[in-house]
Amino acid sequence: MAITDAPKIVTSRFRYDDAHTLARYEATGGYQALRKALAMPPAAVVEEVKAASLLGRGGAGFPAGVKWGFCPPGVWPRYLVVNGDESEPGTYKDRLLMERDPHQIIEGVLIASYAVGCSQAFLYVRGEMALAQERIAAALNEAYAAGYVGRNILGSEFSLDIVLHWGAGAYIVGEETALIESLEGERGMPRLKPPYFPAAKGLYLQPTIVNNIETLSNVPWIVANGAEAFSALGAETSKGTRLFAVSGHVANPGVFEVEYGVTTFRDLIYAPVYAGGIRGDRQLKAFIPGGASSPWFFEEHLDLPLEKVTVDRAGSMLGSGAIVVMDETTDAVRACHRVVRFFAAESCGKCTPCREGTTWLERILKRILDGQGRASDLELLLDVADNISPGITWPPKQTTICPLGPSAVSPVASAIRRFRHEFEAHIARNPNAGGAVDATGSGAARPAALETPVTFGGHHG
Ligand code: SF4
Repeated sequence: MAITDAPKIVTSRFRYDDAHTLARYEATGGYQALRKALAMPPAAVVEEVKAASLLGRGGAGFPAGVKWGFCPPGVWPRYLVVNGDESEPGTYKDRLLMERDPHQIIEGVLIASYAVGCSQAFLYVRGEMALAQERIAAALNEAYAAGYVGRNILGSEFSLDIVLHWGAGAYIVGEETALIESLEGERGMPRLKPPYFPAAKGLYLQPTIVNNIETLSNVPWIVANGAEAFSALGAETSKGTRLFAVSGHVANPGVFEVEYGVTTFRDLIYAPVYAGGIRGDRQLKAFIPGGASSPWFFEEHLDLPLEKVTVDRAGSMLGSGAIVVMDETTDAVRACHRVVRFFAAESCGKCTPCREGTTWLERILKRILDGQGRASDLELLLDVADNISPGITWPPKQTTICPLGPSAVSPVASAIRRFRHEFEAHIARNPNAGGAVDATGSGAARPAALETPVTFGGHHG
């Protein structure tokens, strides 16, 4: 097993009960990186983060330093928006960072704002996260009172106000343009791109950098210890450490900080220091490697490293860092339905393939589960999925404005590809299913319609 002794970068204070207080933060080196950054030219801070190769930790994995360089020169004001609207099922790492070490986030916001050249930052926190709100609000008050936030920070020319904004609990607001709409007081719906790439036209149509909580939590360590120390950790294309939230049928669910790109799924799921294996010593059936939007992985993927490029190539994604484990007792159809139901409920309704398609998927799966499935339902599921995400390929194509639509396709494609016989067994419970359905999963009496391969094309709507 590749369990390394890499230092903890973003969870180093989790061992203290009072890690959320300014006193503990300062006593453990807090705000020293800010002092160091303020003595550097802003461009040098950007270069340091670029050199560290810090990939965004929100899902897309875009290099943070490169993103900071995207603001068009000479356009002011510009804003930093912090995406704390973590709501991908199974993902709860940012919540812990907000609850346990809010000053680390604030210091990351300060350094990023100084580097990018903005004097106003917005911290958008998911509505349901009451303790995170409380802790960040208290930390902001402490930081203002101590002169870390506000005018002429630490006697410098740099001034920054940070606004704490409490979201209303919509999943789609985690999409950066929807988050910006919500901040502006509009309904949280994604904007069409182009032209609304936030770095060019973001909040109030001004240049805006949107960064994730974990991404910014890495920044103080990078500035304090240098890009070289950060990039010495991890794999070639995935530097530093990364948080992974493991949930589902494991003995010890939790959030673990591991060396990025070195540790494998097997390490994380089975090692006693991490999730401790499948509960009850059962067998693994499947696992979701990067949040509910990602295609499922299986036994044969366990030895892949937790590394972005490798996982992408294997047909899924590390996404939001949420690994959901399903043991052998899991009903694949039911698991698929639970995920699809979530996306159908959270579709913002702005575009038709997602609004209608996710609801269709959910209803078809529900009737299959209820013993009301039809022999033609598998083909219908795939047809609807194909209308949302043409070709049902990976990475997904989309007929939708944002990736939520294809997110609902991933579990359907994964479950049908691997566990087709379970769908057929459910459908066979319906005496009026129409057409012969093979309840044994052997394929002996399978009608021609159910032989359609998952990756069929056409019908793009
Ligand atoms: Fe809204 Fe879904 Fe369209 Fe995204 S894909 S804009 S969530 S309707």
